[in-house]
This record gives sequence, C-alpha cells and structure tokens, in this order.
Amino acid sequence: SMASPALLMRVVASAYSVAEKAATIVRNVMAAGDLGIVEKTGANDLQTKADRLVQMSICASLARKFPKVTIIGEEELSTDEVTEELIEDGHCEEILKKTCPAQYTGIKEEELVIWVDPLDGTKEYTEGLLDHVTVLIGIAYGGKAIAGVINQPYYNYEAGSDAVLGRTIWGVLGIGAFGFQLTEAPAGKHIIVTTRSHSSTLVNDCISALNPDSVIRVGGAGNKVIQLIEGKASAYVYASPGCKKWDTCAPEAILHAVGGKITDIHGNSFQYNKEVKHMNSAGVLATLRNYDYYASRIPNTVKQSLVP
Ligand code: AMP
Ligand code: MG
Ligand code: MG
Repeated sequence: SMASPALLMRVVASAYSVAEKAATIVRNVMAAGDLGIVEKTGANDLQTKADRLVQMSICASLARKFPKVTIIGEEELSTDEVTEELIEDGHCEEILKKTCPAQYTGIKEEELVIWVDPLDGTKEYTEGLLDHVTVLIGIAYGGKAIAGVINQPYYNYEAGSDAVLGRTIWGVLGIGAFGFQLTEAPAGKHIIVTTRSHSSTLVNDCISALNPDSVIRVGGAGNKVIQLIEGKASAYVYASPGCKKWDTCAPEAILHAVGGKITDIHGNSFQYNKEVKHMNSAGVLATLRNYDYYASRIPNTVKQSLVP
C-alpha cells in the first residue's frame, strides 16, 4: 500500500484549500460593502474586516490540522473566537499526488513555521484595485522559505463574467510552481515593478539609478512577484523598510521554485525561523532572471541608507 504523504505535502495541500476559502471571504466582505477599515500605524497601513476574518480562518484551520506547527499571522487580533463557518477542512488531492523532495520527507510539525499574510495589498483592496490583492501562506523549514501558496481572489475580474474569477498558485522547492504560465520578461528590457502606495525619495532614487525602460507601480508583494514569474516585469525593487516576513515568505518559495531570486537590497537572503525580526528592514530585490545585473547596479548610497 502507499505510504501516507509526507507532512510537508499535507500542509501545502491543506494550505491550498485554506487559501481558496480565504479568497471567498475576501470577495464576500467586499460584496457586502462594509470593509470595517482600521488604521494600524497610519493611513497607508490598514486592516479591514477581510484581513481579520481571513487571518482567523487560515490560522485556525491550519492549527486544527497541524497543532504543533508555528503559525505567524500579520494581524494582531484581540479576540480569537473563531466561528465554525470560518474553518476549512479540505485539501488539494493533486498536491498530495506529488512526490515530496527527499530532503523534506522527515520534517516534523515542530520544525515548520507558517507565515500568513491574510490579505496582501489591503490599501489597494480599499481603493478597488482588486487584482493587486493576494492571500499569502508561506512555509519555512530551517529558516528557509521552502513552500508557498498565493491566491489571487480577483484574478480575471476585468475579463468579464465568462472568465473564472480567482486563482491559486503554489510551489515547493525541488518540485516547481503551478497554477500560472511561467513567462520570461522581454529580453533586453529593464522593467521595474515597485510599490504604489509606499514610495519615498530613496525608493525612487534607487529605481532611477537602474535606468529602467519602464516602471510598474502596483500594490502587494505577492502581486509583484506574480509580475516577475509571468514576465510582466524584470525586477522587483523596493529600497525601503516596510515589507515583512509574511509578505515575502510565500512569494519567495514560489519564485525560488522556478529558479528566481529574492533578497534584501544588499543581497542578503531572508530568514524565516520563528524568532526572526518581522520587518525586512533593508528592502527587497527580486528577479526571475538576471539577478546579478540589478544587484550590481544598486547604488552604495542606497545600501548605506538601509540597515538590515
Ligand atoms: P507595497 O509594495 O507597498 O504594496 O508593499 C508590499 C507589502 O509590504 C504590503 O503588505 C505593505 O503593506 C507592506 N509595506 C511596504 N511598505 C510599507 C510601509 N511603509 N508601511 C507599512 N507597510 C508597508
Ligand atoms: Mg502584505
Ligand atoms: Mg496583509
């Protein structure tokens, strides 16, 4: 008989279904029309009812199945009364059929850390830029992002009512990434994707120094990494603190699973063990290809302004 699937594959398969449930919640809150917006550190750092409900749904659903896994979510929630209707119990069969890479077959629950961004691109969500929004579930082992799920609840929302709304992208190091069409950015062009709502002089000076052919300004770390793997942009450049471990963990695993690279602006890799500082203080530099080209052109003045 078949051995039961490795823990990592069961976690990813469950995270897939949990992320789809999350997407339904994100759409339902918007459709109901009462976003319940709360400012966290300021007007550009918001939390909505969707951020709150989705975090409760993801964290409670995964904790129920995998009680010894460490789960770290973005939102600080005072009440954790989770109603049964928020719990997702399903999993993706197709993921369970994949073979777990040998180096991950022995992983125990206690060794996994799951980083949850229930809604990435909240500012854009509140402004109706719905396709910028993603749900991020990143899975780390030994301090490294090894697997991730990105759900885009409003993928296709401008394609008309015939189109299937929403999609789920998932990946595991050593297996690959699925749910999208891997596409190279136009050869010889330098297309930078960066923040839309958290710009600064430093962010813009860094981009100017790279002499881009064009700059795409969109919300969300998940959305920007999707732009890289679908060939819309050649580099994600963000020379600023502000982005956190839950923003980068799932996108990093998916980007690395297809041969890309993400680091801070100095070239340091991100760590995802449970004790790590949440803030990515030294910004973000990510590419699918030609990482060294962009890394070698980040000005020293920019690097000196961003302490890891
Ligand atoms: P952005 O590219 O601006 O959409 O940011 C990507 C992620 O990092 C989002 O989750 C943002 O909320 C977060 N982020 C980036 N910069 C900041 C900032 N200055 N303050 C708060 N959150 C930020
Ligand atoms: Mg976020
Ligand atoms: Mg968020």
